[in-house]
Amino acid sequence: MDNISKSSCDVALIGAGLSALVAAREMQKAGLGVQLCEKSRGLGGRMATRRLGEARFDHGCQFFTVRSDPFREEVRNWEERDLVAPWFNHLDAQGEASLQPEKDHLRYRVSEGMTAVAKYLGTDLPIRRQHTVSSVRWEKGKWRISFAEHKEELSASFLLSTAPVPQSLALLEECGVEEIRASLEPLRKIKYGPCFALMALLDQQPRFSPVGFFAPSDHPEIATLADNAAKGVSSRLGAVTILSTDTFAEANFEKAPDEVVKKMLLAARPWLAGCEVLETSLRRWKFARPVVSHPERGWSLPTHALALAGDAFGGPPRLEEAFLSGQWAAEKIRNFFSSR
Ligand SMILES: Cc1cc2nc3c(=O)[nH]c(=O)nc-3n(C[C@H](O)[C@H](O)[C@H](O)COP(=O)(O)OP(=O)(O)OC[C@H]3O[C@@H](n4cnc5c(N)ncnc54)[C@H](O)[C@@H]3O)c2cc1C
Repeated sequence: MDNISKSSCDVALIGAGLSALVAAREMQKAGLGVQLCEKSRGLGGRMATRRLGEARFDHGCQFFTVRSDPFREEVRNWEERDLVAPWFNHLDAQGEASLQPEKDHLRYRVSEGMTAVAKYLGTDLPIRRQHTVSSVRWEKGKWRISFAEHKEELSASFLLSTAPVPQSLALLEECGVEEIRASLEPLRKIKYGPCFALMALLDQQPRFSPVGFFAPSDHPEIATLADNAAKGVSSRLGAVTILSTDTFAEANFEKAPDEVVKKMLLAARPWLAGCEVLETSLRRWKFARPVVSHPERGWSLPTHALALAGDAFGGPPRLEEAFLSGQWAAEKIRNFFSSR
């Protein structure tokens, strides 16, 4: 037990997805000592980009929209830094995307892939990567946080969890305080749907839309196809991300990856006509997007210095909700410290 290294901070955050990065930046600006703990090697959570050979794929969030003033202000900053750019604003009746003058809502792409935004936001933040939070305990007015891979204990005056809510609840179930467990009850209604993201490396660029996005209407298996080269994310041509519908993912979630890949490629054949598939990689998202959200922007329990934030709070499941929830949490936590 004595080998455990100990450290402390004002606010420990579980996760380094958009909501946590936004919250941490704002709290750091307010002079609070933050520490993010992220189980993955990379930042961004569901804003996910990866390589397959020479090609680069967004395999989580595909694009984002802007509806609120605070997010608009942040996106303007990203645009000025050439991190993001308009992608498309129209889907025709078949689902083919295009950029047209003055049509529906503008969808943005991240020029170097979604994780580039997370990397930018994470600059200057203390982030423990590959640190899976395995237990959180409330003892003597502090949170004690332990990790699966490391003999470390982090002590924090406040805990903000941004992991998908069922994962946050599983951790808090074991926090050692009945009052906390009981107060979590309204959050048990939150539900997420799964999704498969199939990355397919092709011998040539497919031609399903000039801008590289297609969302077939009412297709049983395929939700969207994105050509990462047309999108500007991959310099290697023929890098397509195919997202499944949540119904298909639910029905096939436990099936062998090879079987899922085969079914998805078969279903996507009309859009990949004439292309040979050279390599594939399948990502299974168990908590892809909330299907039942919480009505508030986040959840907090100031008596026990605890808050939850993320895209399951506040509105339809979009990246913008994660951003707004992160801001909400930062404000709650700043108020907590200033009223002590
Ligand atoms: C396939 C897919 C497609 C999508 N498409 C779109 C889209 O087109 N437009 C749109 O607006 N939104 C889209 N989304 C949703 C969008 O990506 C999310 O709303 C947003 O990224 C959520 O951010 P977050 O901070 O709430 O959570 P996350 O990004 O999930 O961050 C949570 C973080 O917590 C970490 N974590 C979890 N448990 C632990 C633990 N025990 N210890 C340490 N770390 C932990 C995770 O690794 C993760 O990094 C999509 C999502 C998926 C999966």
